[in-house]
Amino acid sequence: MAKYVFVTGGVVSGLGKGITASSLALLLKSRGYKVFMQKFDPYFNVDPGTMNPIQHGEVYVTYDGCETDLDLGHYERFIDEELNYTSNITSGKIFSSVIEKERRGEYLGSTVQMIPHITNEIKNKVFEAGHSSGADIVITEIGGTVGDIESQPYIETLRQIQYELGRENTFFVHCTLIPLLFGSDELKTKPTQNSVKDLRNMGITPDALVCRVPYPTEDKLKNKLSLFCSVPKENIIDSVDVGNIYDIPINYYNQHIDEIILKQFGLPIRKADLAYWRDLINTVDNLKDEVKIALVGKYVELHDAYLSVHEALVHAGYVYNKKVIVDWVDSEELEKDIDLKERFKDIDGILVPGGFGNRGIEGKIKAINYARVNNIPFLGICLGMQLAVIEFARNVCKLEDANSTEFDPTCKNPIIDLMADQKSIINKGGTLRLGNYACELKKGTLAYKDYKQDTILERHRHRYEFNNDYKELLEKKGMVFSGKNVQADLVEIIELPGHKHFIASQFHPEFKSRPTKAHPLFMSFIKASIGK
Ligand code: GLN
Repeated sequence: MAKYVFVTGGVVSGLGKGITASSLALLLKSRGYKVFMQKFDPYFNVDPGTMNPIQHGEVYVTYDGCETDLDLGHYERFIDEELNYTSNITSGKIFSSVIEKERRGEYLGSTVQMIPHITNEIKNKVFEAGHSSGADIVITEIGGTVGDIESQPYIETLRQIQYELGRENTFFVHCTLIPLLFGSDELKTKPTQNSVKDLRNMGITPDALVCRVPYPTEDKLKNKLSLFCSVPKENIIDSVDVGNIYDIPINYYNQHIDEIILKQFGLPIRKADLAYWRDLINTVDNLKDEVKIALVGKYVELHDAYLSVHEALVHAGYVYNKKVIVDWVDSEELEKDIDLKERFKDIDGILVPGGFGNRGIEGKIKAINYARVNNIPFLGICLGMQLAVIEFARNVCKLEDANSTEFDPTCKNPIIDLMADQKSIINKGGTLRLGNYACELKKGTLAYKDYKQDTILERHRHRYEFNNDYKELLEKKGMVFSGKNVQADLVEIIELPGHKHFIASQFHPEFKSRPTKAHPLFMSFIKASIGK
């Protein structure tokens, strides 16, 4: 049977609970335990796929096609394990499942209630993660902040789980903030005391506190917290603000949090293998020179909307000891009458990521045109690939009205069109082409050189595709279709051989990049950009 670690948050949101959960998982994995991770999000969307990225950040996609919270990206990047549908559960999923069961008559005769029906549903999801993953330890993060109305059924479920499984099988980590009052130069414990009080009112006393602090706390403060919160002093961990997030697991390791968890579980404390992680920290701390990439998107005011793309660029920089600086370019800004040469004068490479809808499209096409004509390294992702094809069709093949039916449903040259099996779909949620699909690579192409493999598996999230009716014409004009999904006859990668570096994919390579394993497409893009 798996053991369960639960991570909650208090005082304020944005404390880095996801990074804390990931760091704990990394440490336990480094001691030879199989770990699995899961996040509960208390909102009523079934998944974040229908939310605006400006509100929620990017939608991360697992290999099995689950559209998830961006924390799942942190988890996968830290522990380098593939997560799945059991890893991200929302209130939308929990409530719709309970209501469907009620309609099917599965609770016949009963009044369906928050306790036990909703809490049982949540509990089943926790245990399902344990059973289906075969993990020794499951780490479950509860989104939101303790005290929120929406998260109450989750906290109540955790209380029940603790009662049923006992403390030897459950461990509660509560992440809080210790603010420093400006002027008085004093660290304040009261918000943490209150947040732990809220948790205890719901029947849970945390086993450990992870306190976000500007600098390491003294014994006196820990004694006080310990007394007020009923948490042993050695289980109160400082999470000091860091410049390099990869320092966090090591900071926790130095405070023995993983040993404390294993001791409570009665599991052997094996030696931790963290050499690879220390190498990573060393690389990040010693990057030389910079490479500047323009990321042209329409959600650039919230960098989290492109989190995995940003991380993948940065990881590729590590391979060449370069610090990647992202210039966040608002695509709508490019639609105005501006001098692109001036705008891109310090830029080493241009990346156009995924996106949906009309707004900012022509600005992205202008950026792609600039990259193609001026021999600037270019990487297009999903929408970025579709627009690269439109740009080429319009300006090289002279199909001036070439477009995607996503933006112009009646256009005469629909070079990007709805996939056949999408035409009858009405529901918007969860109906994109999602998750892993195979892609065959053509020998002798840039894509093949990057991957050095005949067939690759990459994650997808799109509804539209390249229209094969135009393939011959584009090929004649020099575009190479270097990756293809054979089963559905879909274009997956395009490139321009005459160009310094021009490649784009229908899939999202960013989801598979890891800090210690940069992605081949990002690596070659950064390499070419350095060379510029
Ligand atoms: N909007 C495009 C489609 O649905 C591209 C999607 C994306 O970039 N993720 O096909």
